[in-house]
Amino acid sequence: MRPVAAISGVLALLAVAVVVVATGLAQPARQAPLPPAPAPLPVPATPPPAAAAPAPRPVPPAVARPAPVAPTGPSRAIGRPWAGRLVNGVQLPEVTADWLTWDPVLKQIPNRPERRWGTAKLLRTLRAVLAGYHRAHPHALQVLIGDLSRPQGGIFDNRFGGLGHGSHQNGLDADVYYPRRDGRLRAANRPDQVERALAQDLVDRFVAAGAQFVFVGTRVGLRGPRRVVQVIPHHNDHMHVRILPPRGT
Ligand SMILES: [Zn+2]
Repeated sequence: MRPVAAISGVLALLAVAVVVVATGLAQPARQAPLPPAPAPLPVPATPPPAAAAPAPRPVPPAVARPAPVAPTGPSRAIGRPWAGRLVNGVQLPEVTADWLTWDPVLKQIPNRPERRWGTAKLLRTLRAVLAGYHRAHPHALQVLIGDLSRPQGGIFDNRFGGLGHGSHQNGLDADVYYPRRDGRLRAANRPDQVERALAQDLVDRFVAAGAQFVFVGTRVGLRGPRRVVQVIPHHNDHMHVRILPPRGT
């Protein structure tokens, strides 16, 4: 019986060992996660933005005279000035020999970059009129230009500060401030601060340049052809110039 018992004991030990080994083998198999499948390399749906995105629009330095941002195609005034947008707009430089830009909300020079975009035609008109004005009045100060349109046009109402604009949506509108009698480079607070002769000369030049409308204030006494020069409220410190759309838009 002893050998049998010994064999039985050995078998029992072997059985325990087998169970232990089996358990030991099974345990890690249950607990350890499956060997991780090699993760697929992320494939970007689009090229990396750093490589594809255009360089951020340069903000012109305060003193230098930056070149306007070159459009990628002809400027297009889409829709109407009061319900439209601007494609391939051009940024009005914040300062040149002929003008400074005026922020009508912060009431300071220069105007913010995102408030001075227009069609190339609008910028050509401003350049030509203000260059002619300074040839005629070499001692006159730079003229203040206020808001044009936003970079892609669209709504420019009081959510963007101040009274906002009902129009100025498609790159055809520009606010031009009347020169002041005291020579200060800021918007006139009262009509009697406006140098009327110089302001009238500016109105005449925009009319001669083919402006569709020049809106002027009720108390500044500025005149012109009735179909173009129109008197409306809220324009006693600036004229609002609207040009016709560029050909093809
Ligand atoms: Zn305006």
